[in-house]
Amino acid sequence: MSSYPDLHLYIGGEWRKTATDLPVLNPATEEEIGRLPHAETSDLDDALTAAQDGFRIWSRTAPRDRADIILKASALMRERQEDIARAITAEHGKPLAQARLEVIRGCEFFEWDAGEAVRTYGRVIPSARGIRYIVHHQPIGVVLGLSPWNFPMSQPARKIAGALASGCSIILKAAEETPAGALHIAKAFHDAGLPAGVLNLVFGTPADISDHLIRQEPVRLVAFTGSTAVGRHLTTLASNHMTRVLMELGGHAPVIVCEDTDAKRAAVSGAVRKYRNAGQVCTSPTRFFVHESLFEPFLETFVKRAAATTVGNGAEPGVEMGPLANERRVPALAELVEDARAKGADLRTGGSRIGNVGYFFEPTVLANVPDDARVMREEPFGPLAVINPVASLDEAIERANAVPFGLAAYGFTNRADYADRMTDEVEAGNLSINTLEASLPETPFGGVKSSGYGREGGTEGLENYMIVKNISHSMDIV
Ligand code: NAD
Repeated sequence: MSSYPDLHLYIGGEWRKTATDLPVLNPATEEEIGRLPHAETSDLDDALTAAQDGFRIWSRTAPRDRADIILKASALMRERQEDIARAITAEHGKPLAQARLEVIRGCEFFEWDAGEAVRTYGRVIPSARGIRYIVHHQPIGVVLGLSPWNFPMSQPARKIAGALASGCSIILKAAEETPAGALHIAKAFHDAGLPAGVLNLVFGTPADISDHLIRQEPVRLVAFTGSTAVGRHLTTLASNHMTRVLMELGGHAPVIVCEDTDAKRAAVSGAVRKYRNAGQVCTSPTRFFVHESLFEPFLETFVKRAAATTVGNGAEPGVEMGPLANERRVPALAELVEDARAKGADLRTGGSRIGNVGYFFEPTVLANVPDDARVMREEPFGPLAVINPVASLDEAIERANAVPFGLAAYGFTNRADYADRMTDEVEAGNLSINTLEASLPETPFGGVKSSGYGREGGTEGLENYMIVKNISHSMDIV
């Protein structure tokens, strides 16, 4: 595709190629669309030096001036929306309409955090004997950001926005499968006049990069989005150096459908959201616990909507769901389906790969899935929904909480008492009732339990990127 960019690393304000490059594939066609330079250790060391230089400049730049540059870069990304969206569709596979929305959402993350940059207030603590205590917030330092492939532009945007709005510099390792979203962000900041070294972009072998950079003393925060297994590993590495982590990890979102709701509307809403981004979303609704009185109409409507989903190359008009972004996710999903069927689940639609070119997988619904099926505990991270009947809200909440994850959760009800009980008892960082929107730039996003810790977005987001310093200031020597 002509608008796919020439790929580079971005270090110290300069674009860089390296001796080794690897192909980037279009997951709909399996064709090579670009070559991605892989960083050597010397490139990482250069990025670290550049980020330290960048931090010295940026941490002393007034928040209003930081915000101006972030907003200027965001305006450029809005102007370049079509180019960025086409590159995302080519490397990730999602429908172009969803890629366009992703670019806007990424810009909104930048714009929200730019606004927050000027509101990182401290406080003054009243005191006796002429000593004034001031609580002061300062940027933490060099951030190592590690972003995944499911949202090639908006995932890197969250990390870069948080770091830059707080006054930190960042070395971002974006996903090797989907480098163009992050590259476009770096281009926009370059063109907006961001000082060299404040933002650095590298690609390579993920484990080598994280292992080398986490142990470096100037790296003061590791901000990762990805699977719980990798997040746990990175947290262990960081703990050896007492380095702070921000971990946005996997989810396995439950949806509680109460007996008082409109089953068909909830089912259509659930199916449309389930297959967005081919289910490769950490907040994707996956485990539906439907009151038994509504189970049949809910299931029937959901299955019908799932089977009607138009699957194809995201660059083509009318496509609602593209391929999976990675070849490895195809067998992973097929195995979860097979395991559930072997344990007695009903496969109501889908369940298989489509064709033999591109990583397409059918929108899939499994019903009456026993608790010992792997999919009841393992996040499918694909177009797979599980729909099970429950006898009561008590049972639904108990089953909703019966996984190690706690990222997003959803409920459908018109009863205030049911909504209150879900608010109090469902273990999740984000609970949405009668809507399947889990996260906006202005709301804090993050998990509990094995879904990680820390929050991105909202008024809480920048706290992760800042330290709190207490200043005791006596008016006289005491
Ligand atoms: P994975 O666990 O192999 O990788 C997940 C992400 O971590 C990828 O972006 C990968 O490049 C990166 N990674 C892997 N090892 C790393 C290391 N040692 N250091 C730094 N980064 C490393 O899984 P996968 O097959 O790519 O994706 C499937 C799983 O990942 C899903 O089950 C899901 O839980 C998780 N995932 C979550 C999100 C999210 O938004 N929370 C996004 C993408 C993937």
